[in-house]
Amino acid sequence: MKKVIVIGAGFSGLSTAALLAKAGFEVDVIEKHEMSGGRARKFSDKGFTFDMGPSWYWMPDVFERYFELFGKKTSDYYKLIRLDPSYTIYFGPGDKIDLPANTQALYNLFDSIEPGSGNKLKVFLEEAAFKYEIGIKNLVFKPNKSAFEYLDLKIMRSALKMHVIKSFHSYIRKFFTHPKLLRILEFPILFLGATAEKTPALYSLMNYGDMILGTWYPEGGMFKVVEGFQKVAEEMGARFHFNEEVKKFEYTNNKITAVVTSKGSYEADYVIASADYHHVEQKILPEQYRNYKPAYWDSRTMSPSSLIYYLGIDKKLDGMQHHTLIFNKDFEKHAQQIYETPQWPENPSVYLSCTSQTDATTAPKGKENLFILIPVAPGLNDTDEIREHYFDFSVQRIEETLNISFKDDIIFKRNYSNRDFAKDYYAFKGNAYGLANTLMQTAILKPSMFNKKLPNLLYTGQLTIPGPGVPPAIISGQIAADQIIKKEKN
Ligand SMILES: Cc1cc2nc3c(=O)[nH]c(=O)nc-3n(C[C@H](O)[C@H](O)[C@H](O)COP(=O)(O)OP(=O)(O)OC[C@H]3O[C@@H](n4cnc5c(N)ncnc54)[C@H](O)[C@@H]3O)c2cc1C
Repeated sequence: MKKVIVIGAGFSGLSTAALLAKAGFEVDVIEKHEMSGGRARKFSDKGFTFDMGPSWYWMPDVFERYFELFGKKTSDYYKLIRLDPSYTIYFGPGDKIDLPANTQALYNLFDSIEPGSGNKLKVFLEEAAFKYEIGIKNLVFKPNKSAFEYLDLKIMRSALKMHVIKSFHSYIRKFFTHPKLLRILEFPILFLGATAEKTPALYSLMNYGDMILGTWYPEGGMFKVVEGFQKVAEEMGARFHFNEEVKKFEYTNNKITAVVTSKGSYEADYVIASADYHHVEQKILPEQYRNYKPAYWDSRTMSPSSLIYYLGIDKKLDGMQHHTLIFNKDFEKHAQQIYETPQWPENPSVYLSCTSQTDATTAPKGKENLFILIPVAPGLNDTDEIREHYFDFSVQRIEETLNISFKDDIIFKRNYSNRDFAKDYYAFKGNAYGLANTLMQTAILKPSMFNKKLPNLLYTGQLTIPGPGVPPAIISGQIAADQIIKKEKN
């Protein structure tokens, strides 16, 4: 059996490990933390259990298709609940919109804000469905070794309808004019790490994911999904080594022959690096084996980092929903301070996740589990004073906007930001979601999955193809595994 070492047990590492183990490889996963999940880890304190990163379970079909590869279903590992409303958006105190899960109710909502826009939304979502179908079921699985992969008649025929060159910003303005509708439609692409101007209109497929496929919640929290992924990998025979960090490789004839960790050494026929690409290639590989120079990395557009507060609240919060977005009127300025002129934002928008609204297991009885996230630029000077400033700001903003009070009821508080991402994940510039999906960083223009000098080293995860987010990380792991399986067959 050929030996594969997977570095990191985030979603990309878990998915690649399970598939390679299923294909008959001997797979060892080395993970620096005490558990799987990476950015999707969890922690518990004072009776509260917090998912540390992802909170939106989108694109349920990607998870379902993944488990089908092993003859399993998501329901073998966790129970999904469709949220309705999917989420709530506040545009100011008391000025809110609940996004209904039902499609007709959504068209009616659009009509009530901008007459005639319900029908336009229908057309917009039909175009998005086409992009989703081609993009997520076909294009996204390309290894992007060469541009020739796209020289396929079916793909070329659909190229114009995929809107790869058009910007998302101008595209949605052909359908809608009301600022609230534009904000609703632009919100999902924030996940991709760039402004609407810099994001291809291809990504309206995210709106299809949001509005048609829906927002789901795995009972028990997102970590239940991580547990499911680890369980499948173990059932296939993969072995996990926690609290162990990969430090360097050994080489013979321009191939990696062993992986040296903080605890020992593993022979390797293949290595799949699912830890942050920049860290592996700039800190673990010697210069002669790197794909890119530091200047390349410095010129990349990273996705934002995040300033996060995990709070335990000593009472129930009436009027709180599972997912709430509080958009500041000057949203463009916040976006500019993330992407264009990186700095701490003056008046940021705030996102809240309150899982205990849906799930009694994430907080003690009668209490609330509240996760607050402010997207911020990567690479900022992250101090305790700044975190306290934004904590006061966020609590005040939430209290005013939702007309609730909880400042004096906070019985647990932890914060997390740039310097924690850098320390825990060796994240370049403390990024949270990897590399932004800008036009110039899509598909073949992303950091390559293949090390060009070491044929048995591949990269997977949110800094390579297809991009940031849990579903793309799962797909990234699948592509990497496929490449090794194909190579061994040839
Ligand atoms: C705050 C936040 C909110 C998010 N929200 C959402 C959301 O709602 N929905 C969504 O779909 N996506 C969301 N995402 C994005 C999503 O979580 C990530 O894109 C995805 O989990 C990344 O998976 P990965 O495998 O690429 O990387 P990671 O999860 O970072 O995994 C890499 C692993 O490598 C390990 N590692 C690093 N260096 C070493 C080493 N030298 N030796 C051994 N191990 C090492 C790390 O400990 C880590 O476990 C969010 C991310 C964050 C941070």
